[in-house]
Amino acid sequence: MDQEAERDLSRLCVHTITTRPLDLETAVAEYASRGIRGITVWRDALQKTGAKRAGRIIREGGLDIVSLCRGGFFPSTDRKTRKSSIAGNLAALEEAHDAGAPLLVLVCGADPGQSPETSREQIKAGIEAILPRAAELGVRLAIEPLHPVYADTRSSINTMKQAIDMARYFDSSWLGVAVDVYHVWWDEELETAIDSCGRDGRLFAFHICDWKVPTGDILNDRGLMGEGCIDIRRIRGWMERSGFEGYNEVEIFSDIYWNLDQDRFLDMIVRAYLDHS
Ligand code: ZN
Repeated sequence: MDQEAERDLSRLCVHTITTRPLDLETAVAEYASRGIRGITVWRDALQKTGAKRAGRIIREGGLDIVSLCRGGFFPSTDRKTRKSSIAGNLAALEEAHDAGAPLLVLVCGADPGQSPETSREQIKAGIEAILPRAAELGVRLAIEPLHPVYADTRSSINTMKQAIDMARYFDSSWLGVAVDVYHVWWDEELETAIDSCGRDGRLFAFHICDWKVPTGDILNDRGLMGEGCIDIRRIRGWMERSGFEGYNEVEIFSDIYWNLDQDRFLDMIVRAYLDHS
């Protein structure tokens, strides 16, 4: 790879779920060999090695561990389920700490058996329960707003405004927002929201992929950058103008790409990143 291309990859991170068929060791080796610098680890990828060993594999492979995905899923109509969710989140924080991940991403959850407002109150209670431990461990928490199409079961935080309001309620330097273009690209207030979140110092993560037109499956048909209708460069520009200096994290759930040869797919990711983000 020539020098200029290498420099352009200095803020490229890939989520392990993007290349789900690869085990962690293979993912680290394949990312590093292409000049990818960061990795965000999904909890299932830690199962085989355990968090501490996973952290070593990543560091020795020359990659930065950018975050752990994911915590959250706080709301439930059932009190016991809410309690066990908090225990699960505390365990995720320990894993993040053991792996050396500075950030845990929260997909906050929703329960269709109650109103979104009630779910948001339970999200607030869940964050309140885990935030002190996050601070003790030195692991930041990022609330990721999800597209409203997921408001039934995945998250009652569906806009940047709701995520920012939740973060401001706690006013802690350990709590911020993860901006995923797939979830927020449609929002007419996106630019202002990114700007305001940046002024708060709460832009903690930036996830990229594309919204395919048409989308075959609302969960598992996400596109490579440049394949859909999201102006990723423009949104990235707003992030950087608002002081964000972190990684651009490629997070793609796709049955199509998971079925592809992952070597070839990683080459496509690098190309798409350079051309379209
Ligand atoms: Zn994301």
